[in-house]
Amino acid sequence: PNAISVRGLSKHFDDVRAVDDLDLDIADGEFFSMLGPSGSGKTTVLRLIAGFEKPTSGRIQLGQEDVTDRAPYARDVNTVFQDYAIFPHMSVRQNVEYGLRVKKVPRGERRERAEQALATVRLDGYGERKPHQLSGGQRQRVALARALVNRPKVLLLDEPLGALDLKLRREMQIELKEIQREVGITFVFVTHDQEEALTMSDRIAVFNEGRIEQLASPVELYEKPASTFVAGFVGTSNLIEGEVARAILGEAGRFVIRPEKVQLVGPSEAPSADARVCVAPGVVREVVYLGSTTHSVVELDAGTTVTVAHHNFDRSIDAALERRDQRVVVTWRRDH
Ligand code: ADP
Ligand code: MG
Repeated sequence: PNAISVRGLSKHFDDVRAVDDLDLDIADGEFFSMLGPSGSGKTTVLRLIAGFEKPTSGRIQLGQEDVTDRAPYARDVNTVFQDYAIFPHMSVRQNVEYGLRVKKVPRGERRERAEQALATVRLDGYGERKPHQLSGGQRQRVALARALVNRPKVLLLDEPLGALDLKLRREMQIELKEIQREVGITFVFVTHDQEEALTMSDRIAVFNEGRIEQLASPVELYEKPASTFVAGFVGTSNLIEGEVARAILGEAGRFVIRPEKVQLVGPSEAPSADARVCVAPGVVREVVYLGSTTHSVVELDAGTTVTVAHHNFDRSIDAALERRDQRVVVTWRRDH
């Protein structure tokens, strides 16, 4: 069953097509991400689902119910924003209980559910603190607890980790994924960070100019990008333009090869003609040390530049550096 179904959804702001004729199905219990550059329409899609925006056209269904014409409070969704709006003068517990108070849930049940939500986000024992006594990561967890306490069917998260520093963000990514598995709620997670989307998601929709360029699992998105836009936005790519000499795919075009799928060898080590391996000679122009990996940038004789990634096992960086300005051959498997 689907938690969310969207059909022909558009939102225009004057002549800007923020969302352009979108069809989308998100499954129950799925961790679904919307990934795309700034301005690609991600937030607008979330706001349409939450009911904060009225669509120009199209329908939105939550579970079995068409909610297109319903007010936000009459939709079984909650939203967590980047600038988590928690009340500074209230304790953590009061913040988490707030939504339940508004709904007139009795005090005892309120307490219990707030405790549960705080435990879920690993904040047991923090109920009496004030927001200013918490770290940024903890405040973000309060915002999450506040959304979870309502037990919505769907949680919408708009760049919720964007304000955190990189290390904390990485930790929260793993934790958020664990929490989602525990509670089993459908998460719709918006981010412009491709690594974040790959880490957390069951499926990812890549947005570009109000449309979905590709919707796939993280592995499929990375291994089989459907367009040059996706290839360029998700991971690092070598984009190689050329002519198709013999039609294999039936189409002329460009191809993409990931840096870690390319190997670099000396001119004499090049494999002899093997139909499964592509071979191209060139010169190493640049060697960039990146800690866990090293990138060698090779200018092919054919004119294109190709980046080759090596893992820094032992001291392979020394071998890479020795190849700077040397003639080399790059190879990759045809199926890659
Ligand atoms: P994202 O979240 O992917 O960065 P948005 O959904 O915020 O993208 O914006 C998509 C497009 O719609 C952008 O061009 C943005 O400027 C425009 N837009 C969003 N909200 C409004 C608004 N309230 N009024 C006018 N234009 C808007
Ligand atoms: Mg946005």
